[in-house]
Amino acid sequence: MFRAAFDYDPSIDYNVHGYIGMMDVICSHCEAAKFSGETAGMCCVNGKVKLPEFEPPPEPLQSLIFETSPESKHFLNHIQENNSSFQMTSFGATKIIRDQFMPTFKIQGQIYHLAGSLLPLPDANHQFLQIYFIGDKNRELNQRCTIGSHTKREILCELQDLLHQHNELVQLFKTAMDRLPSDNHRIVIRADKTPTGEHSRRFNAPTIDEVAIVIVGDHFQSQNIILHRRNEQLQRVSELHRCYDALQYPTLHWNGHDGYSIPMINPSTGT
Ligand SMILES: [Zn+2]
Repeated sequence: MFRAAFDYDPSIDYNVHGYIGMMDVICSHCEAAKFSGETAGMCCVNGKVKLPEFEPPPEPLQSLIFETSPESKHFLNHIQENNSSFQMTSFGATKIIRDQFMPTFKIQGQIYHLAGSLLPLPDANHQFLQIYFIGDKNRELNQRCTIGSHTKREILCELQDLLHQHNELVQLFKTAMDRLPSDNHRIVIRADKTPTGEHSRRFNAPTIDEVAIVIVGDHFQSQNIILHRRNEQLQRVSELHRCYDALQYPTLHWNGHDGYSIPMINPSTGT
């Protein structure tokens, strides 16, 4: 049964191999539902990790996600296409297999995300992160509308405004690009620093110099994200980089926060 969950077969009666029970063990600290075989500390380290309050997204994203209007239903039914219109990295897999009986793609091997340069080569279309740098609201929206066939222009227009206003990664990239002295310089988004989010509330807000550095040369850690102003090469974004999800799913990570860097607390005092 080793790793059997990764290869589910409905014809197998898994009960005969031992039943792991219901998820009916509730953590007294964080109220996570767990199986009886899971350790007390695996969810919140016995109350030492307290997740920050969920920050509701600004309108119209809040209504699109949580309400039941026809517009909201349409948005949620096509949420993948809506997200694709704003994703900052492209998506790749070493091998994609289409199963004729399944409506979805089955992906084997490694999945990876790619980042390009901030600006396209002359005469090339803006793609992914580059679309945020078109510099003209309507042209930017036109480009986003070509990505999915079920997206609605009015919704994309509102989300575009929202992300330019609230997404701290987009703002970080814009500030960093303004500081690039030449096309030979690169922006390095460091994997070991929090670009945005949590610490801006608990600690001092980071300066761009802490998380994004502008350098010439090739000396950087492989996990860092390196962006050129103009370059035709795509660079793989390490799945260990804390910005990985926020770059790929801006409709979920609307503010660009990565959700890491949660300091531990004393469970008895709460501080
Ligand atoms: Zn817990």
